[in-house]
Amino acid sequence: MRNIKDISVIIPIYNESNIILELYERLVKVLTELALSYEIIFVNDGSSDDSMQQILALSRKDKDVLYIDFNRNFGHQIAVSAGMEQCLGRCAVIIDGDLQDPPELIPKLYSEYKKGYDVVYAQRNKRLGETFLKKITAKMFYRILERITNFTIPFDAGDFRLIDKKVVVALNEMTEPNKFLRGQIAWLGFSHTSVKFDRDSRKQGVSGYSYGKMFRLALDAITGFSDRPLLFVSRLGLIISLLSFFIILFAVFSYFALDRTVSGWTSLIISSAFIGGIQLLSIGIIGEYIARIDKSVKKRPLYMVKDTNIIPAVDEGSKDD
Ligand code: UDP
Ligand code: MG
Repeated sequence: MRNIKDISVIIPIYNESNIILELYERLVKVLTELALSYEIIFVNDGSSDDSMQQILALSRKDKDVLYIDFNRNFGHQIAVSAGMEQCLGRCAVIIDGDLQDPPELIPKLYSEYKKGYDVVYAQRNKRLGETFLKKITAKMFYRILERITNFTIPFDAGDFRLIDKKVVVALNEMTEPNKFLRGQIAWLGFSHTSVKFDRDSRKQGVSGYSYGKMFRLALDAITGFSDRPLLFVSRLGLIISLLSFFIILFAVFSYFALDRTVSGWTSLIISSAFIGGIQLLSIGIIGEYIARIDKSVKKRPLYMVKDTNIIPAVDEGSKDD
């Protein structure tokens, strides 16, 4: 049987081989100074380098190092979710595996948690080593999200945060396949506070979040927490219908009353290109929602585990005497 620890640290890993040891050492130092019993759960999200060997080596040395090794790359949010499904700590810290989130911030997060907050998120003051494009797109994304959802998702906070066990339990009950954890946590509405920090640049390697992955996360966030885009489509339809009604009136009036036909090709090409574009955009927006319904209906497992050293919790009914 696994003991319940004070804190579970969940770390998604995608090609972080050169950092894992330093991350582990810095984490253990911080957690020992806090005198907390801990479990560190590495979720290897289909790394193609030797991250898994590093994790295995640590787990042989330290029985509190747990790992889940995925069959392939299933994505950061899924990796964190897998860690949360298995963690037993009284609280959990979600932290990136590239040392952009400094483990040394954990004592601050923990002390806020001890004041009674269920969610303590780390908010970025500065974002070092990130491109202008990444910063500006991230900023735009948070601002748009703020406007189209009915609850507040904190600006400039990633997934680096400390959450109480009850938040973990609630998240595990949210079975949507398209995860956007920081939105889900905000949606749950537990008491929360933030701690500011300067985000370092990556210790090594490149970001595992390509612009494609970021764009998909942004779409998951928007479609998962707002139906405003659908409202936008129907409103646009209404406005364009009204507008065309007046254009039709004008054209008919001009033909019969003024004996003047509205002149040809330019007006036709403009209107058909305009409507064509609007229609495709609208179908695309609706399609994004349908694709997510499709994924939910299929109920496929969210990830496949190749190997793990986590012994599943024994369920009461199947216990041997
Ligand atoms: N990561 C992951 N799966 C992925 C991409 C990233 O598990 O498909 C992990 C990665 O190892 C890191 C964290 O998620 O621990 C954040 O990723 P990254 O640093 O690449 O994102 P960024 O900081 O650039 O937003
Ligand atoms: Mg990073």
